[in-house]
Amino acid sequence: MTTRFRVGELTIDRVVESEFAVLAPAEVYPDCSDAHIRRDLDWLAPRFYDRAAGKLILAFQGFVIRSGGRNIMVDTCVGDCKQRRRADFHQQRWGWLDTLRAAGFRPDDIDVVVCTHFHVDHVGWNTRLEDGRWVPTFPRARYLFVQAEWDYWRSEAGRPGRERTGDYIGDSILPVIEAGLVDFVAADHRIDPAVFMQPAPGHTPGMVCVGMQSRGERAIIVGDLLHTVLQLKHPDWSTRFCADPVRSRETRLDFLEQHADTDVLVLPAHFPAPTAGRIRRAGEAYAFRFVGED
Ligand SMILES: [Zn+2]
Repeated sequence: MTTRFRVGELTIDRVVESEFAVLAPAEVYPDCSDAHIRRDLDWLAPRFYDRAAGKLILAFQGFVIRSGGRNIMVDTCVGDCKQRRRADFHQQRWGWLDTLRAAGFRPDDIDVVVCTHFHVDHVGWNTRLEDGRWVPTFPRARYLFVQAEWDYWRSEAGRPGRERTGDYIGDSILPVIEAGLVDFVAADHRIDPAVFMQPAPGHTPGMVCVGMQSRGERAIIVGDLLHTVLQLKHPDWSTRFCADPVRSRETRLDFLEQHADTDVLVLPAHFPAPTAGRIRRAGEAYAFRFVGED
């Protein structure tokens, strides 16, 4: 499934790999109790929470930004044929490249690849399996990897996370480095005059958002700064997947404060369709107004 958004002269295509009930709330948020879910069930279910499964519904997707005649892929989902600990991600055949083609892009059309961060569900399609080897999916692209993010995952500190999920660094990061397709960049790297990275440390040390500005319109892809809509109502909730939950909270609170009640189009990695929306103040907390539902 794909959806297209316009930001001035840019377009953003949402290229969905999957959307399903994947994680129990307590598996994501240590601060979330059954009482929290019960209290909000009327608006959480069925759109954001599958009552029967007792799980939150997340999308896994990439975004293609078309800017100045170039195609910039942001995040590359889980991937096919990957050896993973989580059954939902293990040896899957999502067929995401067909979805990408349906949106009008062949792998050779992608000029730049950005991973907001190096978690298993954001790097998978960096590579694909060919004759038993992992090869770059986008052979004509430059892959822009944030230096701080790479430094963390190749250090001892990053090892437990890699072991917990399956060696996605080995099958989805190293092959593109070895192919010579990677430029290591700073977290505030400008990709082109209209598209730029912004540091968003905490969830991982080198996580970035990808901001866009064109003809007075603005948008921002925020990776896992927000995992689910629950974090609008409970902005102080960090996830169990955050490398530094305290820093993650600070980054999220700053972001929400800066973007609330503005016209900036916000695209969190995992929000279900249509994913994009705007942040509004709601009492002490916030709410998310999906596009077309204001
Ligand atoms: Zn994620």
